[in-house]
Amino acid sequence: MRIDGSGTLRASCVLCPNPGPMTLDGTNTWVLREPGSRGVVVVDPGPHDERHLERVARTVQEQGAQVVAALLSHHHFDHSEGARYFSELTGAPVHAVDPGYRISGDGLTDGEVITVDGLELRVVATPGHTADSVSFYLPADNVILTGDTVLGAGTTVIADDGGLSAYMDSLYRLRDLVVTHEVRALLPGHGPICTDPLAKLTEYIEHREERLRQVADAVQAGDRTPMEVVARVYADIDPSVLPAAESSVRAQLRYLAERGDIPAELGQV
Ligand SMILES: [Zn+2]
Repeated sequence: MRIDGSGTLRASCVLCPNPGPMTLDGTNTWVLREPGSRGVVVVDPGPHDERHLERVARTVQEQGAQVVAALLSHHHFDHSEGARYFSELTGAPVHAVDPGYRISGDGLTDGEVITVDGLELRVVATPGHTADSVSFYLPADNVILTGDTVLGAGTTVIADDGGLSAYMDSLYRLRDLVVTHEVRALLPGHGPICTDPLAKLTEYIEHREERLRQVADAVQAGDRTPMEVVARVYADIDPSVLPAAESSVRAQLRYLAERGDIPAELGQV
């Protein structure tokens, strides 16, 4: 399915042409509007690609609408770098968790309800991919915009600042939200819309839990250092990604020790 132009009644995607290994087809810029209203909210303007940003602004203008606010799902440049130019184009403030990324805008706090011209969005703090990652629940369409917390394809990279524990909590939290509200789709920061949110979140959780089990088993089998665990769990990986594997094993050991699955001293890595 083509992501550009797709969406729901209130949300539509403008795809930025910045494809890559970390961005899949590119960054999804989400344009949100209550039908019949003028005020628009844009989630993640994208990188500093003037043609893309102008296209987003033009799309809104052609609908006879006006951007009232831009929101950032997190600070990574492929979502935030274009915010300044976009704000100049549209006059809209930029709201972000990280104060350094706000442009005449406010913070985004967990549980906060943002109302723009009849459109209602709820901020759901979902740290892990980065410490400042948030998702946005759009109750009227019963969908969640997940930024890079859940992608349309593949898995998410977790920041090195001990984000695994926060990330697992965020995944469980999103899954609870999906179950209690029977959420019908996830609108990700990259990749196609996910129309089976429960299956997607369960897959994400199981993928992480499976890796954690392998690391716990390696400890059980006698491995003591992150490199020993890497050698066993990631036996066939390319040497160039060894440092990344070691850093993720460190995070997994810390998290397992924190959960009490392995002795506390093995989490001191
Ligand atoms: Zn991204």
